[in-house]
Amino acid sequence: MTWAATILTLYPEMFPGPLGASMAGRALADGRWSCEPVQIRDHATDRHKSVDDTPAGGGAGMVMRADVLARAVDAAVDRRPDVPLLAMTPRGRPLTQDRVRALAAGPGVTILCGRFEGIDERLFEARAIEPVSIGDYILSGGEMAALTLLDACVRLLPGVMGAASSGDDESFETGLLEYPHYTRPVEWEGRMIPQVLRSGDHAKIDAWRKTQAEIDTRSRRPDLWERHEDARVQSPSGAR
Ligand code: SAM
Repeated sequence: MTWAATILTLYPEMFPGPLGASMAGRALADGRWSCEPVQIRDHATDRHKSVDDTPAGGGAGMVMRADVLARAVDAAVDRRPDVPLLAMTPRGRPLTQDRVRALAAGPGVTILCGRFEGIDERLFEARAIEPVSIGDYILSGGEMAALTLLDACVRLLPGVMGAASSGDDESFETGLLEYPHYTRPVEWEGRMIPQVLRSGDHAKIDAWRKTQAEIDTRSRRPDLWERHEDARVQSPSGAR
């Protein structure tokens, strides 16, 4: 069945955008997923089609109105009640590969993209919307964040990556960053591909890759390393 993405946005022209190219674009053309942007403004009822208003309590910028967004959300839910409802916000829970896998295994996603100062907070609880962040930085709108989430999901859909790459080894799938990669030429600017990778000894190569993954995770992502170590202490045979 087609994995269905519905995106509620003020900029429908941003979709599928870069996801119309390469692997995701081929998958879209093959009908493995669908991408339906919805103009939030179409759900505004006043003459000016307004979707935002000044922040309660004062302060800079504008806030997206709960009543207008709720109409857009309700129409999307009516069409696809089985699909998880997400909103992109830096105030959300950080997106993880585990969450991406779970979303990719489901029927699709409906994503609400914020703009301005963000979305009236009452909407999240009233419509049971999952707040999702893609990282600790501020984008100008939720569209790029939604595209990121969609890309991460689409590549995991059956048949999209092809048999050659299951994605099982990749960073985060094992709880660690992936090991480093090299390819020909063997010598480049005086730097060699590590000898072990040219040895043909697969046991040694696996051991070297595991060690490199651990070294890089420890130095670049101490937060991941700590979680990996905690999991290993709690379940010595279970942790990979
Ligand atoms: N005032 C908000 C704050 O400080 O949390 C930032 C609003 S931002 C300028 C406008 C919109 O961009 C947000 O409503 C959200 O949809 C999106 N956005 C920005 N950064 C994001 C992030 N790291 N993850 C997910 N969405 C983000």
